[in-house]
Amino acid sequence: MLILSAQGVVKKFGSFRALDGVDVEVERGKVTLIIGPNGSGKTTFVNVVTGVYKPDGGKLLYYTKEGKAVDITGLPSHKIFETGIVRTFQIPQVFQRLTVLENLLVVARGQRGEGLLPALARNWVREEEELARRAFRILKAVRLADKWDRPAYLLSAGEMKLLELARALMAGADLIILDEPIAGVPVDQAHEVFKTVRDINQSQSVTFLVIEHRIDIAFRYVDYVYAMASGRVIARGLPDEVASDPKVKEVYIGR
Ligand code: ADP
Repeated sequence: MLILSAQGVVKKFGSFRALDGVDVEVERGKVTLIIGPNGSGKTTFVNVVTGVYKPDGGKLLYYTKEGKAVDITGLPSHKIFETGIVRTFQIPQVFQRLTVLENLLVVARGQRGEGLLPALARNWVREEEELARRAFRILKAVRLADKWDRPAYLLSAGEMKLLELARALMAGADLIILDEPIAGVPVDQAHEVFKTVRDINQSQSVTFLVIEHRIDIAFRYVDYVYAMASGRVIARGLPDEVASDPKVKEVYIGR
């Protein structure tokens, strides 16, 4: 069952085609990876999927849990966010001076977007308790529960990535898009980040679309891989298949 289907997506900057007819299918419940050398169009693709850019051609479909296709082509990013496609940096940045728990609670509050009166009219104490319980469940899933009262600035690089992931879960994400989740993260912590992505994928049935440069680490934790070069998909398949694809080898090694 699919969660996202990109069909023949084109994005031009002037006359330059940063995306030149990209077809990508993301399976619900899986972890899909997009790789490609610098400038191959990965970030542009994510920007088109999340509504930062409107595509100049092609189609983007999101499939609900019930399998209903929703055309999200060219929708503004807040609309796409509402469907459940959440890119980690769509959520306001981590607040360094707030605690880990507070960083989750502000995501939930920001989402509600209602005036003061309806909020006052409800049983807010019970609601706050429920939010805190939900936040703790999520912090457990990302292995940050024991750091709940720590200010975010004391976290390691890897823990900061996990906090971003927790915030995406708090926002109610169905499909989480991670843009280089282990950039600048030391190797041992990088494995922790990917292990946690895997755990969450399985325990919370959340789908992931990940862009990553460090394929030596990422390949061990993903189900399916797309390789891009010059705005096109040049290979797709299981990690082993893509790793041994001659076109992929050429792009990474043979230049
Ligand atoms: P990747 O994420 O794979 O490194 P990008 O999607 O960032 O690649 O970029 C793909 C190509 O599009 C690059 O040649 C880049 O210079 C170009 N590009 C990206 N964004 C813009 C922009 N806003 N204006 C003009 N060219 C851009």
